[in-house]
Order: sequence, then structure tokens, then C-alpha cells
Amino acid sequence: MTTENGYMKALKCRECGREYPLTANHVCEYDFGPLEVAYDYDLIRKSFNRKTIESRAQSMWRYRELLPVATEPTVGLQVGHTPLIKADRLAKRLGIRELWIKNDTVNYPTLSFKDRVVSVALSRSKELGYKTVACASTGNLANSVAANAASAGLRAFVFIPADLEQGKIVNSLVYGPEVIGIKGHYDEVNRLCAEIAGKYGWAFVNVNMRPYYAEGSKSMGFEIAEQMGWKLPQHTVVPMASGSLLTKIHKSYQEFAKLGIVESSGYKIHGAQASGCSPITVAHKAGLDFFKPVKPDTIAKSLAIGTPADGFYALKVMKETQGHGDDVTDDEIREGIRLLAEYEGIFAETAGGVTVGVAKKLIANGRIPKDDSAVLCITGNGLKTLDAVVGHVGNTKEIRPSLREFEALLSAEEKASA
Ligand SMILES: *Cc1c(COP(=O)(O)O)cnc(C)c1O
Ligand SMILES: [Zn+2]
Repeated sequence: MTTENGYMKALKCRECGREYPLTANHVCEYDFGPLEVAYDYDLIRKSFNRKTIESRAQSMWRYRELLPVATEPTVGLQVGHTPLIKADRLAKRLGIRELWIKNDTVNYPTLSFKDRVVSVALSRSKELGYKTVACASTGNLANSVAANAASAGLRAFVFIPADLEQGKIVNSLVYGPEVIGIKGHYDEVNRLCAEIAGKYGWAFVNVNMRPYYAEGSKSMGFEIAEQMGWKLPQHTVVPMASGSLLTKIHKSYQEFAKLGIVESSGYKIHGAQASGCSPITVAHKAGLDFFKPVKPDTIAKSLAIGTPADGFYALKVMKETQGHGDDVTDDEIREGIRLLAEYEGIFAETAGGVTVGVAKKLIANGRIPKDDSAVLCITGNGLKTLDAVVGHVGNTKEIRPSLREFEALLSAEEKASA
């Protein structure tokens, strides 16, 4: 490492390109454009290749040169390297030649892809000297900040909409942070957090730390490329809340291609939303470059952001890669959850139902051609959103502990299915 910033060069405005020092800062003071971490790719190229990556431990930190910490990561060292599963049964059901599931339902430690972004954000927050961390969350981020702050010995404040699923709330409270339920939508939570972040000297992972935080999502794309055998997939279907994950998967593919780690190829990135909160996919389908904010009303609460911070850039990525965007109803979300469970044995949360539901639609209407290969990003665990499926997955059949009753039940079932 040659400088105090390691492989990072600066924070750079996505609009005007002005550069800023690598502090906790997320907007350009000239045009309010979002800041993004810029790297020294020439320096990275010297030592970072397939061999170095393969020689390292199996976690997201094996791509460390492309993640924004100056020295070594200190929080979330075990995060990432989740399974990429060849989903042959679901492929057949959806009518596509080849299908893969990137399974972040089993990410460590809080069972969603948010552990990736939090691992980076908290490692960087510690480097910058922060003792208190915070976030505005639709649920999974709160869980991950709470757990990772606990293990790092940091004080944590998590702000959530008060009406979140029980599973998401308990999975934050148990780690002992301050959990603040705001009576309002996520967008109102986020607005309040921007005010608080300006007033208190805290590291808000998705406000003033957002440039670092967002980079953590790239690790999902790096892993997909490595697990596909150092190849970029033809199609990647990504769920969108703020739209950040989708833009960062694109960035990860581009960085690997730029560094010669994979061959560049004409991949397409498709965005998935719930119809009850679909500002980005509605704009995409109308051929617009800008979205119109909405008031969310969907069971996919982890994706319920009506004013998506990266919506504009997500639209650009879908357009540039010739990908598509679509959205699905609550019933289609539940069907998506069941398809993934019944055909692949994976229980995803509502966001996973959104991704599977949208993939099903895109395959059926030919936007993802049947002879192609696709990766679905499954980002969160179904055990946290039981409320969404209770009453929609059938019931247990109750009998007394008697062989005769069991056999009567079995023959009735066989008759019914004959
Ligand atoms: C946060 C979240 C997303 C999407 O996040 P972006 O804001 O678009 O990066 C997707 N799935 C789950 C389960 C999430 O919690
Ligand atoms: Zn600018």
C-alpha cells in the first residue's frame, strides 16, 4: 500500500466529477450530486488478479482492493461468499435453459445482503474514528447495523418505520441498540435521519457514510462472476429499493472487466420492484429517465422506498445494458416465494418473491430469452417476513396419534390428487 488511503483516491461527484477528501460526506456542494468512491485502478492492477483472489479466505473481503477501507477491514470479516446455486428445477418450471440463484438468504450474520454494505460502512466508520453508528432502514439494514455494531462494540441507533414486520423489529431489538420506530413511511424516516446526521457527530451508514456503504454491494457481483467460473452472466435480475444494489452490481462487472479479471461481455441487468412501490420500473416501462415519487403500499416492505435515492442511476444502468424493469403484485410476490421454496428449497423474504416473480414475467414475455442463462439475486431470508405468507401456504393436517387416522388421511389425499 502506498498512501494513507490505500487503494482509494477520492470521493468523486457523479455529476460534475469534482473530487473530495475521503471523509464522511455524501453530496457535492456545487450541484448536490451524489459522491462515489474513486479508486486507483493502475495500482490495483499490479497485484490484484484471479490468483490473489483465489488464495484468500472465502468472504467478501477477498476483493478487498475494490472495497473502500484504507487499511484492513475490522467489522464483518466473515460476511459474504454465499452460495450460487444452479436452479435446474426452477429453470424448467419457468421455461429457461439455465438459471442460477445467488443465495444471500444465508448471508452472515443477519441473513440478508445488507451485511455486505454494513461490514464496509462500519469498518470505514471505525477508521474515521466514529464511536456511534446509525441508519435509516426498511428492516434488514437495521438488523445488520444492530448485530455488527454489537460485535464491534459500537453504539447504535436504528431508525425504522414503526409498522415493520415483527420479525424485522425483534431481529433489531435483540442486539440491544436504540430502536426508534417512526410513525411514517421510510422516506420520512430517511428525511429525519438526514437532519439528525447533520446535527450529531454520528456515522449514518446510508446517509453521510453512503459512498462507502454502497460499495459493499459490489461484492455480490464479484462473487457472482467468480462463482460462474470467472464469467459475467448474460442476465442478472436484481430487486430495487433505493436502486443502489443494481447500480453496484453493474459497477462490479465493469471493474472486473476493466481489470481483465473477466472478459467484457454484453450482459443485461434487469430491475425488479413490487407494484405497490414501483417508481423505478414504472418510469423504465414508460421510457422515462426520471421517476415520479410514490407512496408505498406493498407486502415487500424491505423494498418500500417511494423516493429511491439511486433511482435515476438505476434507470440509466437498465437502459445502458439493454435490461428491463418490471413489477409484481402482492399475490405474485407470494407465488414467487412459493416457487423458490417448492422448486429449490430456499425460503426467501418478500424481496425474493419480487425477484422470482419478475424473472418469471420477463422469461414468459421473451425479454429474457428461453435459450439464455440468468442469475437471480435473492437478497433476504423468509424467516423474517413470516407475516407476509401466514395463511397463504396451506395448513397442517391434524390427527390423533393413531395409525388408522393417518392411513385414512393418506387415502383421502390420494383420492383428492388422483
Ligand atoms: C435493502 C434491500 C434491497 C435493495 O436495496 P437497494 O436500496 O436497492 O440497494 C433488496 N433486498 C433486500 C432484502 C433488502 O433489504
Ligand atoms: Zn458535483
